[in-house]
Amino acid sequence: MAERKVRVRFAPSPTGPLHIGGVRTALYNYLFARQHGGDFVFRIEDTDTNRFVPGAEAYILESFKWLGIQFDEGVSFGGEHGPYRQSERRDIYKKYVKQLLEEGKAYIAFDTPEELDAKRKEIDNFQYDAHTRTQMRNSLTMSKEECDQRIADGEQFVVRFKIEPGVEVHVQDMIRGEVIVKSDILDDKVLYKSADELPTYHLANIVDDHLMEITHVIRGEEWLPSAPLHVLLYQAFGWADTMPLFAHLPLLLKPEGKGKLSKRDGDRLGFPVFPLEWHDPKSGEVSSGYRESGYFPEAVINFLALLGWNPGTDQELFSLDELVDAFDITRCSKAGAKFDYQKGIWFNHEYILSKSDDEIAELFAPIVANNGVDESLERITQVVHMMKDRVDFVKELWPLCSFFFVAPLEYDPKTVRKRWKDYSVQQMTELAALLESLDDFSLENQEEKVMKWVEDKGYKLGDVMNAFRLTLVGIGKGPGMFDISAFLGKEETLKRLHKAIEVIPTLQSTSE
Ligand code: GLU
Repeated sequence: MAERKVRVRFAPSPTGPLHIGGVRTALYNYLFARQHGGDFVFRIEDTDTNRFVPGAEAYILESFKWLGIQFDEGVSFGGEHGPYRQSERRDIYKKYVKQLLEEGKAYIAFDTPEELDAKRKEIDNFQYDAHTRTQMRNSLTMSKEECDQRIADGEQFVVRFKIEPGVEVHVQDMIRGEVIVKSDILDDKVLYKSADELPTYHLANIVDDHLMEITHVIRGEEWLPSAPLHVLLYQAFGWADTMPLFAHLPLLLKPEGKGKLSKRDGDRLGFPVFPLEWHDPKSGEVSSGYRESGYFPEAVINFLALLGWNPGTDQELFSLDELVDAFDITRCSKAGAKFDYQKGIWFNHEYILSKSDDEIAELFAPIVANNGVDESLERITQVVHMMKDRVDFVKELWPLCSFFFVAPLEYDPKTVRKRWKDYSVQQMTELAALLESLDDFSLENQEEKVMKWVEDKGYKLGDVMNAFRLTLVGIGKGPGMFDISAFLGKEETLKRLHKAIEVIPTLQSTSE
């Protein structure tokens, strides 16, 4: 058989926002397609009309745009295997349902939901299969005439797949190896419903994977139980020799390790489980997203890539292109991957460090402007240079850096009590006079002159610097003092010093 071009697909059902686990599935598909020079198809599986949520498809597309995961073909991208929305492929599925019926590989069943419920009550662990189908109301137990008559009378029916018992079903999984299941444990799954004239997920999924020439099915572990049925469907249609290879990805687990990751874990521990913020059209509920929380898309990709796969080396930082080279689906783990969201924050920090000061400044500048400060990009970049290693997110810069742009409005009482001594007014007045006398206000010159003065006077350096910091920053934290004063410049530094010398002693007397 000729080597087929690798073709994979991401096939979400538009039932709500895309879960972060779905993003990882799409990412692994993308990496697999790219590294094999293959195609990546975007298909919408919307045959379950009851669960359809408006806006979900657009949300999913926007998520991938933000993340930089590109498709070659599919809904909104076009291609030769369309339409790519299953709701637009009804006639195609009907033809294949008919084929299975004609070949006796599927049958029509009229059992109502009430009748099925009654059976479930009557028989423990009831399943519709070779043993029970003979007791049910279907085309195998009634005459063709009766069956045709019921359909002609408009009675609703479903089409069920007729699973032969006693067969070993082999699923070839790139992560799990060969998975073998006895057909006896499978039930005669519904493939089509007359009520909405739509196929179920299973039929549409297989027909489309075949028609779209999919070679590898990479999807979440929750689909592993469906895989034997999918293999049998491929065989029933006579497509066994183009059966895709499967890869069922490990589950994403709660950060604590036990149980499946859920939205509630995110709410409880304060991390998003969706790529973008999601506004539920029905309830109006808003769920946080990685984008709006200030994550870089590269950081999200890098974080997700390592949840369930590892390169077998110490390397942790990977660009998307590096991932394409390094990724190996067969190295994915079978065991679930703990969703260590702190690691996601760590990645974001690393990406802040790896980006240039200019890039971060571009992102920080609008925040500075929104706080009513008119500063040049150049000076904002200087601040970013001094401070970016202290934050995980760009939005954390403002609270940490506002003193560079705005003089303190108040002085932290605890720091005042601890750092402002009886002699601080005198020392700060002398310091102000010294700084006033400097023509060269560079960091180096200030440092040299101030150090000499401290030494000549026999002052404690800590006393001087702590009080000085309080006057310029208003709190006891920040970068190097002369970094700050050099940035503020002579005029602003002196202004803040003089004001503090005046105001802080009044605070002390009132607080005593
Ligand atoms: N529509 C399914 C989902 O929502 C696709 C599963 C598969 O990839 O086969 O995940």
